[in-house]
Amino acid sequence: MGMIKAENLIYEYIRRDEEGNVEAINRAIDNVDIEVNKGDFVAILGHNGSGKSTMAKHINAILTPTEGTVWVNGMNTREEDKIWEIRQAAGMVFQNPDNQIIATVVEEDVGFGAENLGVPTEEIWKRVEESLSAVGMLEYRKHSPNKLSGGQKQRVAIAGIMAMKPECIVLDEPTAMLDPIGRKEVIRTIRELNKREKVTVLLITHYMEEVIHADKVIVMDKGKVVMQGTPREIFSRVEELKQYRLAVPQVTELAYELRKDGLNIPKGILSIEELVEAISSIA
Ligand code: ADP
Ligand code: MG
Repeated sequence: MGMIKAENLIYEYIRRDEEGNVEAINRAIDNVDIEVNKGDFVAILGHNGSGKSTMAKHINAILTPTEGTVWVNGMNTREEDKIWEIRQAAGMVFQNPDNQIIATVVEEDVGFGAENLGVPTEEIWKRVEESLSAVGMLEYRKHSPNKLSGGQKQRVAIAGIMAMKPECIVLDEPTAMLDPIGRKEVIRTIRELNKREKVTVLLITHYMEEVIHADKVIVMDKGKVVMQGTPREIFSRVEELKQYRLAVPQVTELAYELRKDGLNIPKGILSIEELVEAISSIA
């Protein structure tokens, strides 16, 4: 069943002058169809300006379509009386962890969203504990969020969303401001939530390495969906990816070059282990 569905979605940013006349129209989403099924881990990949954040903002009804329709868990985002239900169904995590911290103690921060939903206090504490342990941050519950690393802050932000029990979590470049270790922590956390807690995940990123474990990868460029497939299918199309200004991981590039030179290596190599195996089975 569909968790998120966009059909013929078009979104235009319109700039007007003081009299209200249209000065400029920027079509950020240009006729996009996207479907994310319950339980899936879907990644949206695209260079800066390809329309990823505009897409994300449609999923929690910050923006509504210029044309076309977006449904979240069967609810049309144009229906204003459904907005809070939509926002509870699809929790959002953003780029900057500092902007997402509200309280001075980790556990209070994590409980904040659930409290706003009117969840009873006892239930909140139960959820806070579960969510913190799901993101591997339980031992920091009494700490100050400000002293945590970027990756830890982002995991606390994810726990806060989890405590609201959304069916789906949308992460818009959650690792963009993190160092390589923080990036790995966050990606591992997201994967585990998807596998263990069965949360539907939509991960938006411009780092190709982060999409290796997704069930499906959607590539956007200039507001359009230009590629769609499993990570292996997408990673086997190296030239096309470069055309969309996406840097393929070194190991994929190396495998691609070796294959071009005539070595018998399968397409779409995703990891060093796979490449080693492919090479040793030739020798
Ligand atoms: P991405 O997240 O992939 O970097 P965005 O969705 O932020 O892409 O932007 C897509 C396009 O929409 C870009 O051309 C960008 O300049 C434009 N855009 C984004 N936000 C606004 C805005 N508030 N007003 C006008 N144009 C915008
Ligand atoms: Mg963006």
